[in-house]
Amino acid sequence: MAKYAAMPRASTNGSGADVRGRRRVARRLGAKPRGRVPGLVTGLLGVLLLGASLISTVTTGRDAALADLDSKLSAHAASRASDLTEYFERAQSINLLLAHDSVFKLMAPGEGVLSGPQFATVSAQAGKAMAYLEQLYPGQISEACLIDSTGAELGRVVRGRVAPVSELSKGEADTPFFAPTLGLPQGHVYQAAPYVSSDTHEWVISNSTPMVNASGRPWALLHFELPLDGFRPGAEAASARSFSDLIVDNRSGQVLLDSARPLVESSLGRAGSPELRALVARPGASASGTVDGQRVAVARVTAGPDNANSWSVVVAMPSEALGWFSSIGFSSVAMALAALLLLAFAGYLRATHRAERQGEARYRTLIDQSSDLVLVVDRAGRADFLSPSVERLLAPPGKGLATGGKQRVNRGAVDLVAAVDPEGRAGLSAVLRTAAPGRMSAGEFSITSTEGTSTFEVSVQDLSSDPSVRGLVLTAHDVTDRLALKNEMEHRSLHDALTGLPNRAMLADDIEQALGVAERDGTSVGLLLLDLDRFKEVNDTFGHDYGDALLRQIGPRLAGVLGGVGTVARLGGDEFAVLLPGLRGVNQATDVAGALLSALAIPFPVEGIDVDVEASVGVVISGEHGQDATTLMQRADIAMYVAKTQHLAVFVYDASIDGHSASKLALVGDLRRALDSGELLLHYQPKVSLTSGEVLGVEALVRWQHPERGLVFPDEFIPLAENTGLMNRLTKYVLNAALAQARTWIDAGRPLSIAVNLSARDLHEERFAEVVAELLARHEVPAHLLELEVTETAIMTDPPRARAMLERLSALGIRLSLDDFGAGYTSLSQLTSLPIDEIKIDRSFVMTMAEDPSNALIVRSLVDLGHSLGLTLVAEGVETEGVLQVLAALGCDVAQGYHLSRAIPVAALDTWCADRLGSMTATR
Ligand code: C2E
Ligand code: CA
Ligand code: CA
Repeated sequence: MAKYAAMPRASTNGSGADVRGRRRVARRLGAKPRGRVPGLVTGLLGVLLLGASLISTVTTGRDAALADLDSKLSAHAASRASDLTEYFERAQSINLLLAHDSVFKLMAPGEGVLSGPQFATVSAQAGKAMAYLEQLYPGQISEACLIDSTGAELGRVVRGRVAPVSELSKGEADTPFFAPTLGLPQGHVYQAAPYVSSDTHEWVISNSTPMVNASGRPWALLHFELPLDGFRPGAEAASARSFSDLIVDNRSGQVLLDSARPLVESSLGRAGSPELRALVARPGASASGTVDGQRVAVARVTAGPDNANSWSVVVAMPSEALGWFSSIGFSSVAMALAALLLLAFAGYLRATHRAERQGEARYRTLIDQSSDLVLVVDRAGRADFLSPSVERLLAPPGKGLATGGKQRVNRGAVDLVAAVDPEGRAGLSAVLRTAAPGRMSAGEFSITSTEGTSTFEVSVQDLSSDPSVRGLVLTAHDVTDRLALKNEMEHRSLHDALTGLPNRAMLADDIEQALGVAERDGTSVGLLLLDLDRFKEVNDTFGHDYGDALLRQIGPRLAGVLGGVGTVARLGGDEFAVLLPGLRGVNQATDVAGALLSALAIPFPVEGIDVDVEASVGVVISGEHGQDATTLMQRADIAMYVAKTQHLAVFVYDASIDGHSASKLALVGDLRRALDSGELLLHYQPKVSLTSGEVLGVEALVRWQHPERGLVFPDEFIPLAENTGLMNRLTKYVLNAALAQARTWIDAGRPLSIAVNLSARDLHEERFAEVVAELLARHEVPAHLLELEVTETAIMTDPPRARAMLERLSALGIRLSLDDFGAGYTSLSQLTSLPIDEIKIDRSFVMTMAEDPSNALIVRSLVDLGHSLGLTLVAEGVETEGVLQVLAALGCDVAQGYHLSRAIPVAALDTWCADRLGSMTATR
């Protein structure tokens, strides 16, 4: 079996392996060249007449045999070409399937390219993910890599070995596939012309697909290489080799692969002979001709606009089998005549019969082994010739078809149209009706046998005028596995992996469809968005596996209420949606919402523990609340958010939620996705020593690079995160990014302490200290370089709990800072008992110190107080040189504010620090 036929299938349904096995054999039918026996009477009429008769006999015989050979070669070439096309398609599917994998989606940066710390994390992940591809297709893929939009490799696997980061190349932008791939829309695969792989040093063809981020921009491309050698006909075909094949590049005329020679660089570069080049340059899907004294047939492989490979498969008969055809001429006919006169008719007849039998045996073997169905039929689909594969498929086991195992049958004994599944009959009849000489008609049908349903791609060639065939030659190639892979790919992209429910994309499609129906019916479409309450607690208490098991039960429970009407989808996390078609009013939707909530109220038994589930439901209905899927989903999200925050079980979207807050609320849904897609980023603001002028550290301040709104500041989304249970995730996200940055600075030889802001919810999360410790360990950052800023208010929501958490964090060696001090009501006594290291004086006092004497006084007393407790004093909001001077005079330790620097991206900060160091050393 050819190597490339060994690619695993997505699924195998029951058809016999013999039928399925893709063999590199000709699909040519074993048509019997009809013997032309000169009449005895003619022979006896005299030497002259006999001579004339023999000349005509032999030349007609030669023409018929040549036509017969041509159609055999053409059929074999077409079969090889269809295998290659299928292989290209298969490689495309693998590429797309892989690109769909969430592991790659998770890596996508929000905007631009991955920078320092992100790069390191992603490289590690990408390497693993590429190795995963190797596991899926063992031995098939010689090299796979993920390349970002600048041409830098993020991860690479060569023959199963994950390349270390140090080996990753940055110069992939020059490769022949890079630019064409990035120019393609998502979901397309570019297949470049063969080249020598820099990793495996063998000739390869490559497949690459663009990966886009949440805002639709390509951020990387996923690439893999397959050895060109894989196209070589396999050992089985080689042993029974009756033909030799070449793959020739149509444009250059170069021979890419020669079944008779090993694939080495020189053979690939070999230019074909002028005759060969002229033949492949001819337009058209197929051609026949004579090249280098051999009869050849050509079939083209053009795999569409994304494929740079315009190839021809050239099939030739080995010359010894062909010799007498090509050398035949009048002189040899004359010699044959003389010989025949001597040998007489009996000998002539014996000789021709033997030749026929040999020829036939050869093609019979090819046909017997072909998995393609080959039939000769009339326009009504009644066959008079069938390949054994047809019988294997159609005959009940052990019984044999009506043919009794014969390939030639009486016309009418087998009716192909009746044998295919009903849906395909009209199409097949049409293909048969329209088949015309010189034109290939194509179609598709399915056949259900005892082994299951197989789908075939069928092509029909009209050879009615060919005396050796006299009918329509129908070849059908089994594409069941290819379709199954395609379907699985589609299924995966439209369904949630955990629950198998439709995902957001499919829901959006379903809504649009339902809207169309509703418009015709004069009904409405309802959309309910359900978010489980306190699901996180379930996860935290019982673990994620338990949480997953619970989530899997939600869909069936909801579907039970719907009783077959409507769709349940999972949008992610603990968020589900229900689509309700054919509604007459919003009340029907709220009724269903109520019923769903009652159903959820029945405890869920998970691994022997009963859990109660509550949910908040947002309700919208088409017509009243929107007319397209996007608006309805957005408004359902807002309604759900209101239900949640107002502790209402069900909330129907209300346009009176004013535009401003509605748009704010719409951010909630976006924020959830932003956390997944990496749209959040950190800016850093320096903290500078008022005594030495040194940069002591930075505060990490989160920003949201929103695809539509641009850069969004934390004041807009931190409160939303607090209210929607996203705060813990946000903090972890920020901590992770900040520590990765700290690591980068350590590696660069200038460690800098980083301050991260916490929320009250972090202090209340049981495992928070462990999470921080894990992250420090993961990034190998010493604890003293991390500072955590906590506001008075955060501590005041539950002081004993907050204190306990701060103790644990402090014990890890992390510095703790009391943020926005002075704005709240922390009493001095509380201050003394907290394990804090630093106080940040709220910027409302600092900013106006110069103008407002009372504020100046407060700052002075805070500095004194702090110092008496042994704490470091930081002044926030330093906007002028004047304030800076006063603070220094008061003995304040550290300043932070616009006068020094705003919070800026890491690259800008690095420059800022370098400039500052430069000017400081210059003034010294
Ligand atoms: P904050 O912790 O008090 O952070 C200082 C804020 O003051 C920052 O605003 C900073 O840009 C701003 N600022 C700095 N210097 C000056 C100045 O001289 N004048 C004025 N007028 N403002 C100055 P930003 O980045 O908008 O952050 C706002 C708040 O959002 C932060 O206040 C913090 O409470 C919260 N926040 C930011 N990032 C995070 C985070 O990662 N996690 C949490 N939980 N909260 C964060
Ligand atoms: Ca802060
Ligand atoms: Ca502050």
